[in-house]
Amino acid sequence: MTTELPPASRRGILKASLVGLATLAGSGLATAAAPKPVAAAARPAGKVRNVIMLVPDGMSTGSLSLLDMHSRLTTGKPSFWNRLRARAGTRHATHTTYAHESLVTDSAAASSAWSTGIKHKIKHLCITPDGRQPRPILMRAKAAGYKVGCVTTTTITHATPAGFYCNAPERNDEKAIGEQLIERGIDLAIGGGAKHVDPALEAAQAAGKAMGLLVARSMDGLRAAIENPAPRILGLMSSEQIPFVVDRRGPAREQFNLAEAAVLAARRLSAGGSPFFLQVEAGRIDHAAHNNDAPALLGEMLEYDATLEALVAYTDQNPGTLLVTVADHATANPGLTLYGPAGRLGMERTAAATHSLEWILASVAKTTQKEVRGLELAKLAEQHLGIPLGDDAPRLLQNVYDAIAVDPFTARSTAYGVLGSLAANQFGVGFISINHSADAVDLLAVGAGSDGLPGLIDNTELHDWFTSLLGLAPALS
Ligand SMILES: [Zn+2]
Repeated sequence: MTTELPPASRRGILKASLVGLATLAGSGLATAAAPKPVAAAARPAGKVRNVIMLVPDGMSTGSLSLLDMHSRLTTGKPSFWNRLRARAGTRHATHTTYAHESLVTDSAAASSAWSTGIKHKIKHLCITPDGRQPRPILMRAKAAGYKVGCVTTTTITHATPAGFYCNAPERNDEKAIGEQLIERGIDLAIGGGAKHVDPALEAAQAAGKAMGLLVARSMDGLRAAIENPAPRILGLMSSEQIPFVVDRRGPAREQFNLAEAAVLAARRLSAGGSPFFLQVEAGRIDHAAHNNDAPALLGEMLEYDATLEALVAYTDQNPGTLLVTVADHATANPGLTLYGPAGRLGMERTAAATHSLEWILASVAKTTQKEVRGLELAKLAEQHLGIPLGDDAPRLLQNVYDAIAVDPFTARSTAYGVLGSLAANQFGVGFISINHSADAVDLLAVGAGSDGLPGLIDNTELHDWFTSLLGLAPALS
């Protein structure tokens, strides 16, 4: 299976794009973690009834390595992802993500490629480069008798879930996407983004067109809703994106649990005996990597790993379920880069930070005079990251506020880029950019039908594989 690259002028730049998984041999960590794969599934794979697609948005191989090192250091065991990778019967593939016109994709083009089998331009959701509107995969699955749903830690109208149910020329028009979420009869949708969806919901309720939607706004509400006979469930767990794990403290700690929500969703969609197609997104791995924020990234990766473990357990217990986990693209390619004890100490410091860079930046008081914002930001960052940033940090951060270039790579000469670099001296985790990268990403598949997965697969080909397994109509007829 081969797919043409986008019409880039210099294909030679691709030659060295694949990043190998880091080996821990010789690091002192290997002794703590002989590779013990999780127990193999009790039943052999068979005909596919249900598909669960778990998307760690923006997860690069570097993020997987950080997760695994953290897991080994704190529990003595590899990450669940690596134990699953080593399990007999798990299928592994390299997955390519290029967009129609761009070697580096965004989530909209990537989700639309999975959803339709057609390469898209970035920012477009199921609107082809020549302006046609292919039917998104969840709408075709629904027409074929499948229950369909999405769960995410970002807004439920964000590009990754939206590409599976809507047609929109602009991913950022989340209000218009929210209208389609309500109108198109999605059986279950859980995530943040209430502010985008509520107007459409109110309008549909006023017009008597809410089509049996039961709305939950908390984990308790969601647990109750799952048992309710209402035809459709809408979980609006936050006005905007769900906060980073590292920021979910106090009452916010109970605000959302992705692993539990994902399993509740699968149970709910299967309750009436129908087959189902469910997309689950650990959506903020991408945001943490964009922000060059190692502590936030680690928190999101741990949440993803726990969700993967819960969904593998579901898949093992429910024959006919295919579970695929794959990122839509890599983001910012983090990696531990300090030698010797400094690297290990860096991992420990990363895990001990108490807030995200997003939270810290938002905490700089709006009333702070512009000329001392760099100083205030440096103080707040040292306090909540739990590390010294160095004497030069206030000046470098002030330069960002004053629009003076700090990093010769202009894509990193931002508050996040500079904070990320300053923190890297203590955390040991460096990032290559604040953008997505063109790297291929890892795909794991378990359960029914997974034995047919090729070892190299493009995002458009993943669509074709799903539709052939489920017998769905083409996106364009
Ligand atoms: Zn992104």
